[in-house]
Amino acid sequence: MSEAISEKVKRSLQDLGIGDEAAVTALLGELRATLDRDLASGQDAETLRIHWLGRKQGLIGAANDNWLKTAPGPLKRVTGKLINELRKHAEESIDALKNAATQELAGERVDVTLPGIRREIGAHHPVQWVMQEIEEIFRSMGYSVETGPEIETDYYNFEALNFPPDHPARDTQDTLFLAGSGNYLLRTHTSPVQIRTMEKQKPPVRAVVLGKVYRRDAPDASHSFMFHQMECFAVDTNVSLCDLKGTLNEFTRRFFGPHVKTRFRPSFFPFTEPSAELDIGCLICGGSGCPVCKRTGWVELLGSGMIDPALYGFVGYDPEKVSGFAFGCGADRLALMKYGINDIQLLWQGDKRFLRQFR
Ligand SMILES: [Zn+2]
Repeated sequence: MSEAISEKVKRSLQDLGIGDEAAVTALLGELRATLDRDLASGQDAETLRIHWLGRKQGLIGAANDNWLKTAPGPLKRVTGKLINELRKHAEESIDALKNAATQELAGERVDVTLPGIRREIGAHHPVQWVMQEIEEIFRSMGYSVETGPEIETDYYNFEALNFPPDHPARDTQDTLFLAGSGNYLLRTHTSPVQIRTMEKQKPPVRAVVLGKVYRRDAPDASHSFMFHQMECFAVDTNVSLCDLKGTLNEFTRRFFGPHVKTRFRPSFFPFTEPSAELDIGCLICGGSGCPVCKRTGWVELLGSGMIDPALYGFVGYDPEKVSGFAFGCGADRLALMKYGINDIQLLWQGDKRFLRQFR
């Protein structure tokens, strides 16, 4: 609100040196411009009403008293007309502001009789379903469920699993190291939990591990920098390759169904000896050949083998007395195969249309 015009309405036209019609018109023009600025300033209607139309301090009332009543005869008519126009303009504009504010308030009113907004209920993620099922299968076979940290040391992630420094097998697991942390890294597999479990538990040990692992992989249809692994291992006296095969057959039949076919292929892992890959008959084409199985009828499922006796040295087991097996694979991969999903990225995009199918 202009100070200058507030001062002017307290004085008479003579005082202000205004003696002709053009000067009166300019003076009331100035007052009207000030009013219009106030109307546009966002002040509430009641404040504006008191300031402009108030009985005691209103600027328009003051202009009426000080300008019209002191106006010389020939200027009375035009001064009165301009003040009346200004008053009408102020009344209409301030009323309009008041109505707009009232309507806004009415719009905000809460109708408590309306029904509430129903929130969507979340659902299990397909990978969660898979991990839960794996856990149930192994628990029913007498396995315990073990967990370990996702931030690991080089010792647990590599060294104690028979990956000596500079071992070429380290290169196959593109590792994410924590910057400035010395030798801390994000675990590249769940196998460190094997070492941690054996450290705190004497044989016999039967355990299943389910958890997140991380690798420096560029994302594509079958790779993700974070994925889930399931891992299973057993150590006791006289555990043999037959026990490994029997356990794997039992697991695959219970997970995929009784008719699934399995086969072993020799392989290499630093922490098992001998090592084997387990393939299952392609679930998409039933073995006749399709793009998913690259027309072979078989799909790689997991890596397995007899635990390398060198590992027992790290955990204080006697390799002459105990033996054991271990196997593991990506739980995300199991979810893809079980549900016939062809792109691993779909699992982690958080698209409700995709996730809703797994309720
Ligand atoms: Zn196939």
